[in-house]
Amino acid sequence: MASTITHLFRPNFNGGYPDTPKVLPERSRMSLALAFGENGLPLCKACGLCERSCPDAAIRIVTNKREDGPGRVLDSFEIDLGLCMYCGLCVEVCPAAGIMHTGHFEVSTPDRADTRLTLWPATVATRPAPANPSSEAVRA
Ligand code: SF4
Ligand code: SF4
Repeated sequence: MASTITHLFRPNFNGGYPDTPKVLPERSRMSLALAFGENGLPLCKACGLCERSCPDAAIRIVTNKREDGPGRVLDSFEIDLGLCMYCGLCVEVCPAAGIMHTGHFEVSTPDRADTRLTLWPATVATRPAPANPSSEAVRA
């Protein structure tokens, strides 16, 4: 009984979340998004390295040979957050800083289909979420 009463008057241990927005520590790995350049296009060079490096096969990229020169063009970029374990390998290996962790961590959903994000072609919903201002990993 004494223990219950003690806990009743302790401050809220979760810092008031969800009423008070939570800023996670620097280097936290959260939801993923493509990074975009000033021209509004993804920085991704369609090399496929992140897809091949993902231990969970969570990334699906479709590319095509560029018609106007060497290299490939990105047709679609999908990521299944239901498979992702937020290891960050895709962010680490990317030579173009094309993919990044965002400050968005509230991604739980009762619908399995909602875990599959189409990052390209981009919609408003898949543009980078508000960045964690303390995170160096966010390069938007
Ligand atoms: S996000 Fe980076 S690693 Fe992945 S395909 Fe694009 S350029 Fe390559
Ligand atoms: S964070 Fe890890 S598991 Fe998730 S998509 Fe990137 S490489 Fe795959």
